[in-house]
Amino acid sequence: MPADLRVYLDHAATTPMVPAAVEALIGALSPAGNSSSLHASGRRSKALLEDAREGLAAAVGAHPSEVVFTSGGTEADNLAIAGTYAARTREEPAARGIVTSSIEHHAVLEPTEALVAAGAHVIHAVADTDGIISADSIADALEVLRTRSVRPALVSVMWANNEIGTIQPVAAIADLAQENGAQVHSDAVQAVGRVPLSFRDSGLHLLSLSGHKLGGPMGVGALIVARDAVIEPVVHGGGHERGLRSGTVPVPLAAALAAAVSHAVSVRKEESSRLVALRDRLIEGLLGLDLDLTVGGAWTPGSAHDRLPGNVHIIVPGCDADSLLFLLDAAGIEASTGSACQAGVPGRSHVLDAIGVSTDQPVGAVRLTLGHTSTGDDVERAISAVRECVPRARAAAGVLA
Ligand code: PLP
Repeated sequence: MPADLRVYLDHAATTPMVPAAVEALIGALSPAGNSSSLHASGRRSKALLEDAREGLAAAVGAHPSEVVFTSGGTEADNLAIAGTYAARTREEPAARGIVTSSIEHHAVLEPTEALVAAGAHVIHAVADTDGIISADSIADALEVLRTRSVRPALVSVMWANNEIGTIQPVAAIADLAQENGAQVHSDAVQAVGRVPLSFRDSGLHLLSLSGHKLGGPMGVGALIVARDAVIEPVVHGGGHERGLRSGTVPVPLAAALAAAVSHAVSVRKEESSRLVALRDRLIEGLLGLDLDLTVGGAWTPGSAHDRLPGNVHIIVPGCDADSLLFLLDAAGIEASTGSACQAGVPGRSHVLDAIGVSTDQPVGAVRLTLGHTSTGDDVERAISAVRECVPRARAAAGVLA
């Protein structure tokens, strides 16, 4: 099937670059100059980098000095977690507690788990069946640390979930973390440009974002680091980025990232209303197929308060997710199960486990995520394809069972 007839519904995995970002990237590719060099070319590169820093900071409500460019969301999360833990334990040896949630991305789960060998106590706050991590759930996790006489070093809770699209009460969690003397981080990779967000007003010390999730290029992201945050570098070298992330900064990528974030934030309101309408039509159309489908995660029609505007997650009992995705792909619909970041490794979703989706029988889950190229026609074609593919995927599960 020609590429232009296919329907791309995997914008949460990566979304096409927006023209403003392509233009910024191309414009910054050719000029020579290392932004650390003192000659005129170096200074020109440095000026481009600082413009990008200012643009990005303004778009997310941060100060330019708080922007640390990284290679993407995964590196930003690793720096936030390992960097906080190293700094906090050096300052206060009993501060070995890390509270995170059971529905985090692997870019948070794995670095926290890796710190267990260094003496960290990691507690996973429980999500409710809608996929929301309440402040009470964080309070319970902090209480577990207290009973172990471990001081909390870090609370890390994602702003929006990549799989089921639920939006977390970050401000309440940040208040609670601060009251308990913990540094607080949010993986906002899925949230920046999609929900109203101001770092300054968030109460966070650290926030991660990634270029390719919001119309920028792959291979670039940022960790926003509050000026009073306690953090040590993970990558050591020439002391770039306030000494927090050594390595020559890829100026063209940084310029494109800043252009993408500024664009996403500037069109967010109108784009959010447009996507909520498409999302609701898609969910309602799928539920109306009478195929015993349910929605994963919180969903309030017409609202982007509890669920990302472009996220549709459907639970399909009685079939295998991979065969359903294969059939949908053959029908021209590009979807996923939820985490494109597990490097194609199949397995059960820890997010579905965390929200209590039954595992007694095969359960398929399909994530269809909408973005800036999505149209009403895409939605109708996805509904028709699901109508045809689910019975076939169920028949295949029956044959294989
Ligand atoms: N965090 C979340 C919530 C994500 O969805 C992803 C990617 O899917 C990442 C982190 C990793 O970001 P990157 O691909 O930029 O490393």
